Amino acid sequence: MNDAVIIGGGLGALFTGAFLSKEGYKVTVLEKNRIIGGGLQCFTRHGDVFETGMHILGGFCSGGSLHKICSYLGIINKLSIRHTDEDAIDSITYLSDKKTYRIPQGKEAFIHYLSLEFPEEKEHIEAYVNELYELSEEVDLFYLRKGPNHIFSHSEHFLWAADRLIKHYVDNPQLQDLLAYMNPMYGGVAGCTPAYIHALINVLYINGSSLFNDGSQQLADLLATIITDAGGEICVNERVVEIAVENKSVSEVKTEKGKSFKADTYISDIHPCSLLELISPDAFPRSYRNRLMEIPNSYSAFTVYIKFKENSFPYINHPCYYQENYSMVWKLAEYDEKEWPKGFMCLTPPTKQQGIYANRMIVNCIMDFKAVDRWKNTTVGRRGKDYEEWKQTCRERILDKLELLYPGIGEMIDYSFASSPLTIRDYYGVKEGALYGFQKDCRNIALSQVALFTKVKNLLLTGQNVNLHGICGVPLTAIETAEAIIGQGIIIDKINKNYNSR
Ligand SMILES: Cc1cc2nc3c(=O)[nH]c(=O)nc-3n(C[C@H](O)[C@H](O)[C@H](O)COP(=O)(O)OP(=O)(O)OC[C@H]3O[C@@H](n4cnc5c(N)ncnc54)[C@H](O)[C@@H]3O)c2cc1C
Repeated sequence: MNDAVIIGGGLGALFTGAFLSKEGYKVTVLEKNRIIGGGLQCFTRHGDVFETGMHILGGFCSGGSLHKICSYLGIINKLSIRHTDEDAIDSITYLSDKKTYRIPQGKEAFIHYLSLEFPEEKEHIEAYVNELYELSEEVDLFYLRKGPNHIFSHSEHFLWAADRLIKHYVDNPQLQDLLAYMNPMYGGVAGCTPAYIHALINVLYINGSSLFNDGSQQLADLLATIITDAGGEICVNERVVEIAVENKSVSEVKTEKGKSFKADTYISDIHPCSLLELISPDAFPRSYRNRLMEIPNSYSAFTVYIKFKENSFPYINHPCYYQENYSMVWKLAEYDEKEWPKGFMCLTPPTKQQGIYANRMIVNCIMDFKAVDRWKNTTVGRRGKDYEEWKQTCRERILDKLELLYPGIGEMIDYSFASSPLTIRDYYGVKEGALYGFQKDCRNIALSQVALFTKVKNLLLTGQNVNLHGICGVPLTAIETAEAIIGQGIIIDKINKNYNSR
């Protein structure tokens, strides 16, 4: 008998499990894959390590939320992390006018830089950036403060569409587009993505961004160690196939191998629609099931992984965004297939001994799940020749675009390969290969707000579908899920006390 069984072993599961383990709970994590971590999971190709779903970090600079959380968990000094350059947390290149913008770190530097580029908009930029920071202040948890977290108790602009907020402050269409360059980091869609999400992600990264040296697996492994050191267990290759419910409580969880796991509390870190497939239909009210099935998901991505020849391509200490022109950042998933891709984000993940040359590059291009719809009934490694040919065409198109950005790059590549929205769907078990799970829609925010409590008494939710995705959101939701078990405010207090006593 465990204190808690967690279904899925991703970012949310491991943070939730680590918080509970620090409180003396015996936690068992059940992960379907061979390797723990979900979005943190890395894989090896020809002896080289590649990250799958966690490339850019925020909140790890001193005083940041992740820095405080990982200090409390005792792992901050064990993580090998590299901060991006202060004078360029990101660069954005527009092919239409061959202009590259280099975004500096820090609120004042951000305002100063953009005001030099767009002098006529100086006051507007200042007002817009101030608004971003004010909106972020409305989310107490973002600053690890205790407080009401009710979505409807906010200022008017909080639930505006993010593109409307930008246009409200800024007149220049090029600047309007540039201010949305981080859209791929939160699945930004015009008229849909709430201003507060745009604000939280922008503030997080403007305050400083970081990259993992040698990949994100290290964070998963360190969190797993916290769980096992406290007597818990990490079970890989354990796909959950059934969640048995009796008298409105989970009685056991069964895995593909026929094992049964029992606990006082069960926590689901998997996509809520995948959860519905594992639990008996009458466990939840039909209205709840229907609602979960109706929530649109964020868009997906096609990724090209590149290994460079030795000492060929220079290392770049920040992510690089590329866009064909100033009109597509809000419509990244709407495209004519022949014109794809019109933009992407690429980065050269650092190693612990990072020198002046890059070892690898990862290129992420937004892609709608519709692009792979014809192979949706296939499984990994068995998708057929036509799928492989399509993937190769997509990969070559991206390599051609890279050649425009970095002439001669083709000659520097040792090998490259690709993954598609189907890869994301099947490795993480995420509906439609959605990068960030459920899409948040300001036109119907109630639809996409999923509570961490469920109608099944001892079943809680964690992970990116409950609140915000990624390194910014999932660890915060993990605090909420763990506090729902041990008592509200307890973990936040301990995190802050630990930080203040340094
Ligand atoms: C390509 C890509 C790039 C990204 N880049 C970034 C980035 O740079 N920065 C950032 O902050 N965020 C990024 N994200 C988002 C981030 O990875 C996710 O928000 C985060 O990993 C979600 O955590 P989670 O715990 O909710 O789900 P996951 O990490 O996906 O974990 C879910 C886990 O459940 C397991 N599972 C599913 N079904 C079962 C089952 N039946 N039984 C047992 N186990 C099961 C899965 O295998 C998986 O390990 C990216 C995502 C993708 C896909």
